[in-house]
Amino acid sequence: MENLLKRYFRPKLPHIWCPGCGNGIVTACVARAIDKLELEQDKTTIVSGIGCSSRASGYLNFDSLHTAHGRAIPFATGVKLVKPDHHVIILTGDGDATAIGGNHFIHAARRNIDLTVVVFNNNIYGMTGGQYSPLTPHKSKATTAPFGNVDRPFDLSELAKGAGATFIARATTYHATLLTDLIAEALSHKGFALVEAMTACPISFGRQNKMGSAANMIKWQRDHAVPIKAAAKMKPEQLEGKFPIGVLHKSEAAEYVAEYQKVIQQAMGGAKA
Ligand code: SF4
Ligand code: MG
Repeated sequence: MENLLKRYFRPKLPHIWCPGCGNGIVTACVARAIDKLELEQDKTTIVSGIGCSSRASGYLNFDSLHTAHGRAIPFATGVKLVKPDHHVIILTGDGDATAIGGNHFIHAARRNIDLTVVVFNNNIYGMTGGQYSPLTPHKSKATTAPFGNVDRPFDLSELAKGAGATFIARATTYHATLLTDLIAEALSHKGFALVEAMTACPISFGRQNKMGSAANMIKWQRDHAVPIKAAAKMKPEQLEGKFPIGVLHKSEAAEYVAEYQKVIQQAMGGAKA
């Protein structure tokens, strides 16, 4: 870990995250995945939006952009179009990616642009004070839903699949090795790749929902995540309240930047003629 810290993290400690927050685990998994693939540091760009998890871009030692709320994907799209040979990784939260940034998320998936989006899903807006997000479970408590959340949440993987994403995976901070492997697989995939990282916010979500300590919240992940192969053999009633982890969807489709390059070539040829 010492080498990983020296190589991939800026000397900016202490970080802002609360004790027991899962954001550090997800960020370390991102660094391990980059290390596993031996990606060139100056050809890897990290883009984030706003929120607790989006602070990760500032701690990682890459060319990084900490952008506006919900707008990480448009910034990342610009980077990818200008630097097609770069790996562009978006680090974002459930509020950032699926509420204010929801429109950008579905259209990037639809285009199948070669971006890797890691959504830190802690089921809440952490930084702004514990408001419910589009991924807050039905009936869970939030500062804006003290009697329980009336909204039904998105299933983010199904949303991404419906929108056209070609790689979708999910893991938890309890399953950190799997999470690292899935991020590496997402980075190796040519097209829009989503990794949903289920992570604990013991302060803004856990306290309001009486989930106990940070350690208890990680045990909750262990007890509610089901490997996708096992989930396929289970009945719907056995899966009630649980969620599958692993690679949830993989397909092939034309990648946006490559297609865009063809249009540029065509236009250049046209101009010459
Ligand atoms: Fe982590 Fe929640 Fe604290 Fe934000 S508020 S740093 S998500 S524990
Ligand atoms: Mg959140």
